[in-house]
Amino acid sequence: MDTSIKNVYDSVIARDPDQPEFHQAVEEVLDSLGPVIEANPEYIDVVKSMVEPERVIQFRIPWYDDEGNLNVNRGIRVQFNSSIGPYKGGLRFHPSVNLSILKFLGFEQVFKNSLTGLPMGGGKGGSDFDPKGKSDSEVRRFCQSFMSELWRHIGADLDVPAGDIGVGGREIGYLFGMYRKLANEFTGVLTGKGLSYGGSLIRPEATGYGLVYFAREMLSTKGKSFEGASVAISGSGNVAQYACEKVLDLGGKPVTMSDSSGFIYDSSGIDREKLSWIMDLKNNRRGRIKEYADKFENIEYTESKPEPNSNELWATNVDVALPCATQNEINGSEAQLLVDGGVIAVAEGANMPCTPEAVECFLENGVLFAPGKASNAGGVATSGLEMSQNSIRMNWSREEVDSKLEEIMINIHKNTFETAEKYGFSGNYVAGANIAGFLKVAESSLSQGIL
Ligand code: NDP
Repeated sequence: MDTSIKNVYDSVIARDPDQPEFHQAVEEVLDSLGPVIEANPEYIDVVKSMVEPERVIQFRIPWYDDEGNLNVNRGIRVQFNSSIGPYKGGLRFHPSVNLSILKFLGFEQVFKNSLTGLPMGGGKGGSDFDPKGKSDSEVRRFCQSFMSELWRHIGADLDVPAGDIGVGGREIGYLFGMYRKLANEFTGVLTGKGLSYGGSLIRPEATGYGLVYFAREMLSTKGKSFEGASVAISGSGNVAQYACEKVLDLGGKPVTMSDSSGFIYDSSGIDREKLSWIMDLKNNRRGRIKEYADKFENIEYTESKPEPNSNELWATNVDVALPCATQNEINGSEAQLLVDGGVIAVAEGANMPCTPEAVECFLENGVLFAPGKASNAGGVATSGLEMSQNSIRMNWSREEVDSKLEEIMINIHKNTFETAEKYGFSGNYVAGANIAGFLKVAESSLSQGIL
């Protein structure tokens, strides 16, 4: 790392020593910026300012459960960078949520949103609330309490949150309803909305579809495709489900899916019928992936283990791996298992699912590797398209949104591939995404005076 950049990194650690996920995300970006700062020394000031969020809001969320007990959760919104557009990024409801995780996600979001080519800044938020096992009424009361504070800090031209882990269509509905009531206006303040109240077609599918479009482009640089390829997918939520669907569209064979309790391996492949059963299980019945092994024949189910290096999902021999669950779900030795199994391409559907050691392992072994800030940008890009439709008060058809999404993913692939080439990181999509995302934000920050 260049000395001036290293100084910035050291200052980040010194200022917030207890934020490991944030350090990891910052280090990964700063590692790529050496040649850019060498060519444009004035950009170091942008780097210094970019590692500090513009604003962080933290608040209390009191809510009553069905037994009448008071629960108090913590809410946070990190408004990271608005130099190219309003803050934009999801809300995560998960017990692991803390400031370090939301800062890492918000920081990544700045580069991702820049890569989409749409005018969106970066932000992220959420709560340590666990929606698992809660009744609909409890989730509704929680969402209303959450929004009763957040509403004063967001707006269609200020900050436009969306879903993330634990925040799907149901939660967005409750959050939007409360915002509309408190603000006394109907605007596109959230994305991922239901179709009956301003949502966009293809938004639910967008992250998973976009991921597979990106992976397809990446495979084509080596003359390969999804046709006949076996694919390991982790997670069974929004991103995983639609990644699975698009893999099937392109002739691939998904063989695994998981949740936090374990994973299933289906050697005959998860076909459309089985996928639709999983969607019903996860989206309507809110069940566990283990039930797949009870429902279908010849399925292996492996329970997850608490200790590290134990995610056996990645010991599956596959051509393509799409980690779509959560951060740091593939470490160095798990990456090595994938390499030993002959993996050709790994594309991140989740945010930062691969540790730095895992990424290094893929790059060293010539595996095509797509970082989430490029390959999962289809979700936020389609959120951007939802914002456009809300602004012009029109709805585009499914085909129109899907073709715009596909075009955006093809452009992100081209941009990251060519930027890597230009700055001496040939074939390294991590560097390409970091540099391409950074350049647009750097240029606009400097033009506006760093504020
Ligand atoms: P969902 O809540 O719909 O699904 C998350 C899935 O991951 C579930 O199967 C969940 O299992 C599993 N999971 C969550 N936490 C863990 C954990 N600690 N260990 C093992 N498994 C876990 O979320 P999404 O599909 O929306 O998001 C998945 C990832 O994709 C996240 O990293 C998110 O930030 C990223 N992403 C999402 C976008 C979107 O549009 N939704 C856009 C871009 C990125 P369980 O049910 O047991 O918790």
